[in-house]
Amino acid sequence: MDYNELANLIFPDAKGIEYYEEKYPERNLKEGAMVTRFAPSPTGFVHIGGLFGAIIDRKLAEQSKGVFILRIEDTDQKREIENGTSQIVDSLKDFGINPDEGMIGENLDKGNYGPYKQSQRKDIYQAYAKSLIRRGLAYPCFCTTQELDEIREKQETAKIRPGYYGIWAKYRNLPIDEAAEKIKNGEAYIIRFKSQGREDRRIKHKDVIKGNIEFPENDQDIVIIKADGLPTYHFAHAVDDHLMRVTHVIRGDEWVSSIPLHLELFKALGFKPPKYAHTATIMKDENGNKRKISKRKDPEAAVSYYHEEGIPEEAVVEYLLNIANSNFEPWRRANKDADISEFKLELNKMSVSGAVFDMVKLLDVSKNVISKFTAEKIYTETLKWAKRYDRELETILTKNKEYAIKILNIERGGNKPRKDISRWSEIKHSIQYMYDDIFDKNTSYEFQKIIDNDEIKSILKSYIEKHFDINDDKQDWFNKMKDLAEEMGYAREVKEYKTNPDAYKGHIGDISTVIRVALTGRCNTPDLYEIMQILGKKSIERRINKICKEN
Ligand code: GLU
Repeated sequence: MDYNELANLIFPDAKGIEYYEEKYPERNLKEGAMVTRFAPSPTGFVHIGGLFGAIIDRKLAEQSKGVFILRIEDTDQKREIENGTSQIVDSLKDFGINPDEGMIGENLDKGNYGPYKQSQRKDIYQAYAKSLIRRGLAYPCFCTTQELDEIREKQETAKIRPGYYGIWAKYRNLPIDEAAEKIKNGEAYIIRFKSQGREDRRIKHKDVIKGNIEFPENDQDIVIIKADGLPTYHFAHAVDDHLMRVTHVIRGDEWVSSIPLHLELFKALGFKPPKYAHTATIMKDENGNKRKISKRKDPEAAVSYYHEEGIPEEAVVEYLLNIANSNFEPWRRANKDADISEFKLELNKMSVSGAVFDMVKLLDVSKNVISKFTAEKIYTETLKWAKRYDRELETILTKNKEYAIKILNIERGGNKPRKDISRWSEIKHSIQYMYDDIFDKNTSYEFQKIIDNDEIKSILKSYIEKHFDINDDKQDWFNKMKDLAEEMGYAREVKEYKTNPDAYKGHIGDISTVIRVALTGRCNTPDLYEIMQILGKKSIERRINKICKEN
């Protein structure tokens, strides 16, 4: 028996690889076009690091007029969850990331290079594994788990490098006839790669992000086809990225040590390797110590967290671009209102060491992003969020849409829009005092400097009786506030007060704070004039009279 016959015995139905080479031809793209892919397992959970990679993949393909693929790596079927694929598709969609090719629903894909779920590509992997067996570059291995454990124990005791390689590769040199015999007898086996590498030789490689790196060659006879007939990650990576004609494999740092193996696999299979870009792991600073952001410890590791918090997707994407590329921040400073699609991402400007995830910075970015939204957009987004996470807020918003939009429009739209909101979960707190029924339930007033009850009452009484007119424009409104200050013995201007503090009880700011707190309960609010215009005469009088009548 020869290799060819052994290959036919193992994979009798596999097609010749020429069939696939022809079926998935080189792409006809313009020079420099990048074909990228995001290749998660269908666990439903999208990690912030995954989103980070997907944003980079999507953007690079778009910028270069290439193709972005979403491939689902479901060869480890134990880890799969129900609807895991559609959850990934939807999570990405939430962040504005739509693939040009690949999975677009649980069982729905688009593109000519599919199927895009690895479990549906079994025939393809087997064809390539067969071609390796035929050339003596892969072989069946009959080791039982017990045998593998024994090998490991021996290596541990002797303190030598673990793995299935060289003399430890028990079935590497099994005569073909014996292998065939075992197969015919129904013995269980898997297929291993027959590495030609040597540990004492080194390979050099240039990573697009990390630059030049050097490793010992691979000499492990890794499993390429498992007992269930599905490939391992390494083998599927080589076959898929070749056949999908991927030009740039952008993936997490944790894969960089697999480079020698992957390059060897590409070579054995006769494929041109893609360019590799290994992105820095997203880290978290914990009391000065950097550690990997973790699914178990950090709620913000899951992209669903940003949804629950109501942090707009635009903000998360913008923040991730911020940590992806050092030139993002200067670009943003120079192009304050530009859409992020105009930013050109450069792989060679990616951070090499761990990028530290900073929630405070993210919320800051979010405040800026939200400050550019219209009140209508904020209304729509907040309502969408509230429907899922805060029914009370939903009721408030839907009761009177026009009124809600007016509130959300306070200090918005001008050239210095307010920047106090970083997530939809803060909206309720920021608008509730504008509603009489909610305001009435809230009995606390954050009075500041002036706390004497009689003084407060006389200020309010005078204001409502002599100075308040809902039809005043902002200038008149403010002048009248100053008249009130003067009448009550406070300086019209802060400056006046500062030069002559003994002449006054306080200044205009103290007076306006009394009005502000009486009307809103808070000492910090956006523009009081705008607030009053929206509250309207009746509500203002009610609120002020309520305090004046209290004893
Ligand atoms: N399925 C692999 C993972 O989720 C993909 C790695 C890669 O991008 O090649 O880690």
